[in-house]
Amino acid sequence: MAEYTPMIQQYLQVKEGAKDAFLFFRLGDFYEMFFDDAILASKELEITLTARGGGGDGKIPMCGVPYHAAEGYIQRLIEKGYKVAICEQLEDPATTKGMVRRDIVRVVTPGTVMEGKIISDKSNNYLVCVTESDGMMALSACDLTTGELYVTSVLSGAEWLRDEIGIYEPAEVIGDALLLDQLRSESSLLAKPVVYTPWEKRDEELARRQFGEAAWVRLEKERGRNLSLLISYLSETQRRSLAQLSQISPYEPGHYMILDPFTRRNLELTETVRERSKKGSLLWLLDRTETSMGARLLRRRIDKPLLQRAPIERRLEAVDYLYNQFIMREDLRLSLKEIYDLERLVGRIAFGSANGRDMNALKLSLAQIPALKQLCMTSGSATLREIGEAMDECAELREDIGQAIVDEAPVSVRDGGIIRAGYHERLDELREASTNGKRWIAELEAKERLATGIKSLKIGYNKIFGYYIEITRSNLAALPEGRYERKQTLANAERFVTPELKEKEALILEAQDKMTDLEYSLFIALRDRISSQIPRLQNLAEQVAEIDVYQCLAAVSAEHRFVKPKLSDGYDLRIEGGRHPVVEAVLKESAFIANGSTLAKEDGNILLITGPNMAGKSTYMRQVALICILAQIGCFVPAASAEVPLIDRIFTRIGAADDLIGGQSTFMVEMADIQVMTEKATARSLIIIDELGRGTSTSEGMAIAQAVIEYVHDTIACKALVSTHFHELAHLQESLLGLRNYSMAVQESGDKVNFLRKLVPGAADSSYGIYCARLAGLPEGIIDRAYGLLQSIEQAAPPGAAVVAGGEVQAGNVAPAPAAAAQAESAYKEAAVSLEPNLLEESSEVVQLS
Ligand code: ADP
Repeated sequence: MAEYTPMIQQYLQVKEGAKDAFLFFRLGDFYEMFFDDAILASKELEITLTARGGGGDGKIPMCGVPYHAAEGYIQRLIEKGYKVAICEQLEDPATTKGMVRRDIVRVVTPGTVMEGKIISDKSNNYLVCVTESDGMMALSACDLTTGELYVTSVLSGAEWLRDEIGIYEPAEVIGDALLLDQLRSESSLLAKPVVYTPWEKRDEELARRQFGEAAWVRLEKERGRNLSLLISYLSETQRRSLAQLSQISPYEPGHYMILDPFTRRNLELTETVRERSKKGSLLWLLDRTETSMGARLLRRRIDKPLLQRAPIERRLEAVDYLYNQFIMREDLRLSLKEIYDLERLVGRIAFGSANGRDMNALKLSLAQIPALKQLCMTSGSATLREIGEAMDECAELREDIGQAIVDEAPVSVRDGGIIRAGYHERLDELREASTNGKRWIAELEAKERLATGIKSLKIGYNKIFGYYIEITRSNLAALPEGRYERKQTLANAERFVTPELKEKEALILEAQDKMTDLEYSLFIALRDRISSQIPRLQNLAEQVAEIDVYQCLAAVSAEHRFVKPKLSDGYDLRIEGGRHPVVEAVLKESAFIANGSTLAKEDGNILLITGPNMAGKSTYMRQVALICILAQIGCFVPAASAEVPLIDRIFTRIGAADDLIGGQSTFMVEMADIQVMTEKATARSLIIIDELGRGTSTSEGMAIAQAVIEYVHDTIACKALVSTHFHELAHLQESLLGLRNYSMAVQESGDKVNFLRKLVPGAADSSYGIYCARLAGLPEGIIDRAYGLLQSIEQAAPPGAAVVAGGEVQAGNVAPAPAAAAQAESAYKEAAVSLEPNLLEESSEVVQLS
């Protein structure tokens, strides 16, 4: 190190503290990067890589960005999943002898970024911390931009951790290295890329101070341990006040329905399976919120349906009331529309990045609160009245801002023009002095024009020379010798000053300097006063978000003709005229066919659904799950009527989700999921399996399917919807009391099949796989050959046996015909199930043949 210049030595020292980040090293007007940082950054940011001597052997790679444009570059690196450590000059180079002191002032990481594209209005940006000790696991999730901080814990369980992280979709996960390794191997399940930062350092003292002793002592041990890790990470990276993280929200996992990442994706709760976009998801359909806080709360509610009746009923009560109150909903919406993102405003106030415009946004938002409060308090809903009564208008904060800040505040907080006249006596005096000075200068200009007779004489100002009198070259002759002091010569003019002018200039500039300093300190004082009230503002933000969610759910429910679900603590699920809310919304002209569902102790708790591809099986099964979820988040449901028991967990195995994986691994994934299901499902769970047992040979698939269904029936005894290509499984209805055969009706006319999308009792007798292959556009040669083979297989099959070859629309799944035939044939020989001779006759009522 000794051979390097002092500056590079300083760089290397600072870099020691930020090994996993790009070090933005401030040198004058630039942030410079050196060595490997420079090489990588120049590639990632597409900026020129140069080199400089630094005392060592050879040149040191270097690249840099201007300080005023750094924000954009930092954000680009963060979006790419990097971290950036910002190293500033801590002394003024102009007044410092020798090396200026420099140190890191903040490390920006994906989970702690406060601004930029990465921060979306409608979703949170979470940093999640995971820890484990003494058989307990804890997880905390914090969003620095909004100040939310959740913490929870359970007896150790890997799936639990995966499921819980899936809900937060964090940008960054920190914590025990071992846990992170485990998670990293499963990160493909998460919707967005995650940065993992192993972190072992804890600071309990700091955490106690951050949250206050009273909150701290109530925390369960592992949660405390987790939060002291989180706080130590935040303080080392942010190096500033974290006033927005003042309140901890602990929760018990057992209070919420469990939805694993597969299920959340399969049911397209917040994004679609294929495009991974919000459009087409349940969230997309439901989101009629007017505020960003409301939008984020709605998303959280969809992610965490409740498991206890009382809080659900409380939510439903508000939705029910607003459902019928169109005018009230409109009034609420008009008020909510005017409210800015309170949580993020508060985040910026705490962080110290809020400007005058943020203050005004806060003021305008607070101005809406009295009306909102009034609307709630006079409403016919107990839930809304309770929220209204608890709302703290924070009127004095609004007044404080209103008195201090001008209406059209500038972006910068350092250049003045931000504080209102009449707010501060000394500031008014300085302003007066400055205005007087300027007036004096204007008068001087008029006076001198008159005295010299030069009409074009003017007084100007620039940063280097200050105020000057300018006379064009053509008028110079008219100027009496020695009247002014010559200062600067331009091509076609001369500039002059007078001692009087310089004297006034000093007064004006001094007043202006003092003014901007004073304005800045007045602004900071105001910001600090607001900062000390952050918990009040956060509570208010939460109440506003809640009201917003109620008006939103009521509006959607009314528009889409949803009905209030009847919640029960019992077992039975009964839906009449159920619909898939999203499929229905995208289908034109109310073309959606409603179907009922009964999953009940006495009337069958397992539905085995057969029917061709495209018949509507998976839509149907998903709709049942969505109705349960909607009911448990406290929303009305798309049905004619619905009696919904509290479902503790929904498992789904739906083919479409593994399009990324394919082949043999599809089967392994299915089996792994089913393993988790057998271990975790309770009688209160809902299981949905689409095309159970595909991905292996027909006979094996069928055998496994039967065994799994029997297990669900005999051991778990929960509600289940299972679709299958194996019509042979229909015989299970004979042996399993709780199983009912259903199928999606189709109508054949000539060589066409018409999907009726109606669920009817009994099993289907053909999967129409070949017909679907034709729909998919397979060559006629293949289609004809397949029909021919099917016929010969059916003739060779034992009397009454059903068709085995389950057709798939995806071209990749259509096996070459001879192989398929051989496989199907051997399937009969191996089949582990006994086939009922009268199966075909029995099920023929299902399909209306022409
Ligand atoms: P399957 O799972 O049987 O292959 P899907 O559930 O994927 O069939 O349904 C195929 C298509 O049929 C869906 O994309 C949807 O457009 C339409 N569909 C499904 N159910 C209904 C229904 N109840 N009413 C109207 N159209 C439906």
